[in-house]
Amino acid sequence: MSRLATQAAHAPDQAESTHADIIYPGATPFVLVHLICFTAIFWTGVTMEAVVIGIVLYWVRMIGVTGGYHRYFSHRSYKTSRAGQLFIAALAQSSAQRGALWWAAMHRHHHQYSDLANDTHSPRHHGFLYAHFGWIFAKKNAEPDYESVADLMEYPELVWMNKHQYVVPAILGFVVWLVAGWSGLVAGFLWSTMICWHCTFFINSLAHVHGTQRYVTGDDSRNNWWLAVLTCGEGWHNNHHAYQSSTRQGFRWYQVDFTYYVLKAVSWTGLIWDLRAPPADVVNNERKLGRLVVEKVARQVADTYSPDGVAAQVRSAWENSQMWPDVQAWARSAGAQAAAKLATVPLPELPTAQDIRQRAAEKFRVPEVSLDEVSERARILLIQAVSSRILGEEHAAA
Ligand SMILES: [Zn+2]
Ligand SMILES: [Zn+2]
Repeated sequence: MSRLATQAAHAPDQAESTHADIIYPGATPFVLVHLICFTAIFWTGVTMEAVVIGIVLYWVRMIGVTGGYHRYFSHRSYKTSRAGQLFIAALAQSSAQRGALWWAAMHRHHHQYSDLANDTHSPRHHGFLYAHFGWIFAKKNAEPDYESVADLMEYPELVWMNKHQYVVPAILGFVVWLVAGWSGLVAGFLWSTMICWHCTFFINSLAHVHGTQRYVTGDDSRNNWWLAVLTCGEGWHNNHHAYQSSTRQGFRWYQVDFTYYVLKAVSWTGLIWDLRAPPADVVNNERKLGRLVVEKVARQVADTYSPDGVAAQVRSAWENSQMWPDVQAWARSAGAQAAAKLATVPLPELPTAQDIRQRAAEKFRVPEVSLDEVSERARILLIQAVSSRILGEEHAAA
């Protein structure tokens, strides 16, 4: 059985264990920031200066998170100097979303397993709130697999910043307090920090639930225009899952991507370069799907049929035919061999290859170039599911 199939099979257990893994003391600073924000109402007040600081800090730090943590550190979608990299890391880290290494490691893991059972933050498997912020406080996510960011671990300054996650946001908070007092700190700095957190988290939660899917990615990623406005372009999340190494996430001219406009403007100064664009066949949904995506979509297509129903039909048809003694004999032999043998037998009750192909095209909008591959794989998965049911029942009866 493939690794993907094994992961899917363990979905409920894993989802349960991820919830149980949360360390609540770890969430204390997060909860405290939310509570302190309310003191703006009855203690610090909200000065005009604080409002301006909050608005500026929100947008600047959101650009830092999307243009820095996401498009640079996680996906290396453009290049810069070592000093430029350090500046980007500091800007992004001022958003209080831990260090670049942690952020990129968690995010690369998300793309590797997106919406499979061991995706760190999949609303499909773990529920909306856990996907939104619960996962951040899970014990297993405190120390991610830093091997996945070996390319970034080469820089001791990034490693240091990753270990001392509060230094940059604390300095920024202190400067804001010096300039604009307690109102500036609470209504300007903390409010914008909190809103920036939730808008970033929306990409893990909402952008895998609400919106449209232009591309077949095998996961639940969606394009959502209003999230794209709030997050400076990250709302084009289905585009992004379809081609992750593009600096630009709004693939079409009308898909507003503010982070990309900023990065493009900075590239004219020569401080960053080699911004990557999505190839035309990707944008036009004409590219062949990757192996992992084919496997995921084929499984989804196969899951739209009922193996139990087909197995029952096949069994009742065979019980009255001369095939039945053979099937019983196979069931008594080794399981894998029996399943292989059964897969060679014509199963008229099985959906036809044409039917599966049509479903993959219409329901899952698999591009023409990958239709044969996806539908054939879905057919095999379905045959395997039906065979294992028939042989399982027969084996149990034998
Ligand atoms: Zn995603
Ligand atoms: Zn990404």
